[in-house]
Amino acid sequence: MFATLSDRLTASLKNLRGKGRLSEADIDATAREIRIALLEADVALPVVKQFVAAVKERARGAEVSGALNPAQQVVKIVHEELVTILGGETRRVRMAKQPPTVIMLAGLQGAGKTTLAAKLALWFKEQGNSPLLVAADLQRPNAVNQLQVNGERAGVKVWAPEPGNGVGDPVAVARGGVEEARRTLHDVVIVDTAGRLGVDADLMQQAADIRDAVDPDEVLFVVDAMIGQDAVNTAQAFLDGVGFDGVVLTKLDGDARGGAALSIRSITGRPIMFASAGEKLTDFDTFHPDRMASRILD
Ligand code: GDP
Repeated sequence: MFATLSDRLTASLKNLRGKGRLSEADIDATAREIRIALLEADVALPVVKQFVAAVKERARGAEVSGALNPAQQVVKIVHEELVTILGGETRRVRMAKQPPTVIMLAGLQGAGKTTLAAKLALWFKEQGNSPLLVAADLQRPNAVNQLQVNGERAGVKVWAPEPGNGVGDPVAVARGGVEEARRTLHDVVIVDTAGRLGVDADLMQQAADIRDAVDPDEVLFVVDAMIGQDAVNTAQAFLDGVGFDGVVLTKLDGDARGGAALSIRSITGRPIMFASAGEKLTDFDTFHPDRMASRILD
């Protein structure tokens, strides 16, 4: 994951090794390398600028403090700034005071929403919750069936359209799912919604209607990390059209560069809450900015 970024950052910081004191030229050269590394990783330009400026500013004061030599201090600064742009602390799901906690997923078709829905359900189950999956993606042929198959694999019940519970009407299915959870004492409801191949007005409206109908505790924007900086534009469209509270990055296993991961928090102001890195239901976890920063720098 992020092999090139990792190599480049590490190489740029290696040049500082053995220096007792960092000159302005050393700092400039390192800043330049970091800038190139981030741009090559497809990180959004405003984020790159902000990151490099912060590292430079802090590196100038690096020789004055403590037990670390200047090079180690710059490594530490880069690590800390990576943690900052990745969101700082892990942001946990806000559970409803009055169950069920309703979580709605939104994102483009192919982002990995349906797979993610089941992964998230399994994760909740392992935390001791009793989740219900709701198949409100009626756009993509097979999405309902796929959720049923994955739900079964995860050992989680799926509320799916059938005569009487809103066939053809995703808003009614979503609403019915939440009512079903209330009736059957499921404490978490995960609502899968439709995505289109590109952002479009109908899709946004449908997602907004579902949101209004189920009043979610969390709307999670699911995005394929492999699309790099484009993830930021898509996120912006969903932020404007539906609004969301947190981000789930999928396909991190195939993301060689890291542009989406490093840009999305700064640009949208919304935390990355979960990450998916593979097709198996267990290839999934809460997102930890500090661990990700360490992986990038190791
Ligand atoms: P949806 O249209 O947003 O519901 O997307 P799907 O859940 O159907 O996922 C689209 C494709 O991406 C499927 O082939 C999934 O198996 C695959 N996929 C989902 N998440 C991941 C992941 O984290 N890593 C990899 N490599 N593939 C994934």
